[in-house]
Amino acid sequence: MQIRRSAYALAATLALSVPLIAAPSALAEDTRPAAVTITYDDSRAPEYTAAITEGIKIWNDKVDNVQINKVEAGGRADVSFVSDPGWPRAELGPAMPGDSLTIWFGKQAVDDGYNLTRIASHEFGHSLGLPDAKPGPCSSLMSGSTGGVECDNATPNAEEIAAVERNYAGGFVPRQRQETVVVG
Ligand SMILES: [Zn+2]
Repeated sequence: MQIRRSAYALAATLALSVPLIAAPSALAEDTRPAAVTITYDDSRAPEYTAAITEGIKIWNDKVDNVQINKVEAGGRADVSFVSDPGWPRAELGPAMPGDSLTIWFGKQAVDDGYNLTRIASHEFGHSLGLPDAKPGPCSSLMSGSTGGVECDNATPNAEEIAAVERNYAGGFVPRQRQETVVVG
């Protein structure tokens, strides 16, 4: 009985002291989701690898909640660039680990003179879950071709960056896609 009473008293003391010991900020840090890492492959778009590398680097520099790595040679990628004779287009994300989304790097826009890096980062914006924002100014990445053929801005604006951060704010969420949406 004496032991039980002591244990009870100790427990009561601990219960009182726990909120003082565990700072709320420390708890918040422990539960924050880790950044999502996705992979891309450019082996089927060999003529555009320089532009793709540059476009991916821009996204990696601008966002924190998702990071994009080039897949190991022969490995399975979450997003794959493919050379295509038509107009550039992509399967809408946000891409998650285990996905297999495609970006068709369309030669039609290349032949028309559109900036290759802008094409790459615009289409990858779709992979990150951004819809088109057409028509729009050159300062908007997702305005795509409506930014003008002379537009060489390949960097997302503040709104576009914030939208991607929101798409990945919850960390890794396995996709259960009912259907694939292709956007231009
Ligand atoms: Zn588009």
